[in-house]
Amino acid sequence: MGRVYNFNPGPSTLPLPVLEKVQQELLDYRGQGISVMEMSHRSPQFEAMVAEAEALVLEHTGLAAGDYRVLFLQGGASLQFSMVPLNFLPPGGVADYVITGSFAAKAYQEACRVGKIHIAASSGESNFSTIPRQEELQFSASPAYVHITTNNTIYGTQWQELPHCGAAPLVADMSSDILSRELDYSRFALVYAGAQKNMGPAGVTVVLIRRSMLETAQETPSAMLSYKIHAANNSLYNTPCTFGLYVLLLVMQWIKEKGGIGALAALNREKAELLYGAIDASGGFYRGHAAREVRSQMNVTFRLPAKELEQKFVLEAEQAGMIGLKGHRSVGGIRASIYNAMPLEGCRSLASFMGEFARRYG
Ligand SMILES: *Cc1c(COP(=O)(O)O)cnc(C)c1O
Repeated sequence: MGRVYNFNPGPSTLPLPVLEKVQQELLDYRGQGISVMEMSHRSPQFEAMVAEAEALVLEHTGLAAGDYRVLFLQGGASLQFSMVPLNFLPPGGVADYVITGSFAAKAYQEACRVGKIHIAASSGESNFSTIPRQEELQFSASPAYVHITTNNTIYGTQWQELPHCGAAPLVADMSSDILSRELDYSRFALVYAGAQKNMGPAGVTVVLIRRSMLETAQETPSAMLSYKIHAANNSLYNTPCTFGLYVLLLVMQWIKEKGGIGALAALNREKAELLYGAIDASGGFYRGHAAREVRSQMNVTFRLPAKELEQKFVLEAEQAGMIGLKGHRSVGGIRASIYNAMPLEGCRSLASFMGEFARRYG
């Protein structure tokens, strides 16, 4: 039917059953005679969708509704770079950032527009192939919060264990690994993610926020930037990305049908092992960017011996039905993004292509 394996970093592949359901319901949403796209966001049907999406995100993350809220916002993770400090960095306060890649650096830069920021650690010296160890983190005296990026989409590294930062609230950009592995989400005061990698289509931004943290949010320059206002209005302060939210709900239901995060985590490990296995078995033909102990299970980054070979790799993979493998322009090389919706078969197919390509050109 012409579908290929889509290794794009985001927007990225969506589960086929979700797309099929969207197609099936597109013209007539469950007997209402209209599409979800044409439905009022104030309708009981739509409000129920938002409520179910919130409940499923909480269920998947193992968080209690009494302790956390889930918000569905717009503006991408990039607007969260600003909203976090605007809401939680008080005048005269300091927030700590750990710089582990391009998006972490952007989050830092945006926060610097708002207030005083301290860099607790950076892996820039290793060209972001590493993640700082706990003993390398140097926090300020009493940070308003500590910000990390759990998975570095461009460099292909991932925090293996969450850092300990004392009493400071831990805030994380989890755009590229949310819901992909078992984690103690209650360690976070706030998590945000653009939906377009692991949760749905582009246009929705998901925020998980601890209720006690939410209460401490300060006044913001505009209502649209206020977590409190979005929370008080159940993410319906203004017109949300209704269609995106509907698809996100279908993805949350799909995760449940698959057996939840535990089942997906096992699959994700297996998928990543296939590709790292192909790198390690290539006798140096493929060189992974990430240090072994911090390899990402979501974005597998590697180089070939020459640029021309990398171009050939991308081209031949495309001809074999695998697209989106070109690395980010700032790092080059190859990047295979293998989020939740990438089937095991896609990784098998890529791993076997890698082996064959290495034999032919190595
Ligand atoms: C993709 C990505 C972003 C950017 O998200 P937008 O929704 O485009 O603003 C930020 N952080 C990380 C870790 C990402 O992977």
